[in-house]
Amino acid sequence: MSAEQFQRLTREDFHQQAAALRPETRMLIDGKLVNAKSGKNFETVNPASDEVVATIPLGDVEDVELAVASARKAFKSGVWSRMEPRARMEVMYRFADLISENALQFGLLESLDVGKPIVDLLGANGDVAAAALTVRYFGEAIDKIEGTVTTTAADTFHYILRQPLGVVVSITPWNYPLLIAAWKVAPALAVGNSVILKPAEQSPLSATLLAQLFMEAGGPAGVFNVVHGPGGTVGKTLALHMDVDKISFTGSTAVGKLMMVYSGQSNLKRVTVETGGKSPQIITANAPDLDIAAQFAVSGIYANKGEMCSAGSRLLVDARIHDEFVARFAAKTKATFTIGDPLDPATTMGPLVSRKQQKSVLSSIDIAKQEGAQLVLGGRTPAGFDSGAYVEPTLFIDVHPGMRIAREEVFGPVAAVLPFKTIDEAVQIANDSIYGLAAGIWTADIRTAHKMARDLDAGVIWVNCYDLSDMTQPWGGFKQSGTGRDKCLETLLTVSQTKSVWINLG
Ligand code: NAD
Repeated sequence: MSAEQFQRLTREDFHQQAAALRPETRMLIDGKLVNAKSGKNFETVNPASDEVVATIPLGDVEDVELAVASARKAFKSGVWSRMEPRARMEVMYRFADLISENALQFGLLESLDVGKPIVDLLGANGDVAAAALTVRYFGEAIDKIEGTVTTTAADTFHYILRQPLGVVVSITPWNYPLLIAAWKVAPALAVGNSVILKPAEQSPLSATLLAQLFMEAGGPAGVFNVVHGPGGTVGKTLALHMDVDKISFTGSTAVGKLMMVYSGQSNLKRVTVETGGKSPQIITANAPDLDIAAQFAVSGIYANKGEMCSAGSRLLVDARIHDEFVARFAAKTKATFTIGDPLDPATTMGPLVSRKQQKSVLSSIDIAKQEGAQLVLGGRTPAGFDSGAYVEPTLFIDVHPGMRIAREEVFGPVAAVLPFKTIDEAVQIANDSIYGLAAGIWTADIRTAHKMARDLDAGVIWVNCYDLSDMTQPWGGFKQSGTGRDKCLETLLTVSQTKSVWINLG
């Protein structure tokens, strides 16, 4: 079904399809669908209605051991790691096609699990299409990964092989469950690793389907395993495991730091972490079009209900245009976001992922008020949305750089306006953060644009735009926003290793 065909479906159609869903929730270990060895389960709840969607096996240490053994066995056998590269490519292409063919199911599962609007999932550039593209992109790279012959002395021959690491574990968050799983798993598979995916316990529904489709595409048993369960047991056991070669983690900065500790406490497994953010959107007085800047700024913070690592949650606005910008921002917010049932195609803002997250976001709003920030938009659960984890798009002004609302990641639809007087001051405020994921700059002055792009501590810079995205783009941050890069060909280097080979010709 294409994006255009989805456009014809109504809220009732989506609800009917959702009611008929019987998601496969078992784990996939060694090519088999299994329950937890303990027999225990946990429930995943629809944050739009507080209703239980499905029961999921509660994995534990025993299940992790089986998954690691299965991944290692598959890797050693060479069934995938030494498969003819072009045959591996064919599997990845078919895998990408199957994701697209199952778009409706993925869309419904993700929407029910985390409250994402169905339009954000099934649109032409939605999460499902982006996940399929990710698999295709890394599949296409398989026969372009080359070793090197180096220039050596006359009587020696030296070449460098690039080889897979072995067993790569992907630990993922709940804000883009399918897409981030694809970002992690696809490059690891492309270079020939075996993988274990441990999705966040809040968003388990799409993981098993993803792994099943890999097998349906011709992926061998044991190469793509899924283990469900809490981070503190399943995630920790994987990260401490002596037979895991790499952890590819996306989540909070606090847990990202633990990954590095676990690596040091076990086998020095490689670790890349993509973590939190408090990204600035800097609106200078000579922004080419304030209306367009306000439109991008609104989406930059409130898209995906603000549950985005790259959320532009700090609006640094030149004091001279402050009032005008705030007025336009408020008007654009009202015109852009319709809060509602995520399965209604008219909805552009759904509930947060859980009641716990709602409580945490509302508490950040209370703290901002107590610290003296002035609330000018939202700040509450929207009227009529008591069942469900909804929070209104919220805006604070009179925010100072020392306030918690200017420093801490809220991970919800909450923006803070910080005024500045000079470009240097804007850069100084922007960089005064433990994070450095992304930054937006609005200016018509080419020197200001390039100077800020150079001076801002961020892995991604957007000039006169925000959140533009492509597979070729390195995705990752500076400072405590992370150590790795997702998407882009560079990722392949982080799931493989070089081997230096010397031949004596003398
Ligand atoms: P989280 O850190 O709580 O959880 C992420 C994953 O880690 C989950 O699968 C969880 O089960 C697991 N985990 C938790 N404790 C663990 C432990 N002790 N050992 C091993 N695994 C453990 O993060 P979250 O709440 O799921 O996601 C939100 C965070 O993710 C935000 O900070 C957001 O900025 C970040 N994020 C970053 C990016 C990026 O690309 N930089 C993208 C998306 C989300």
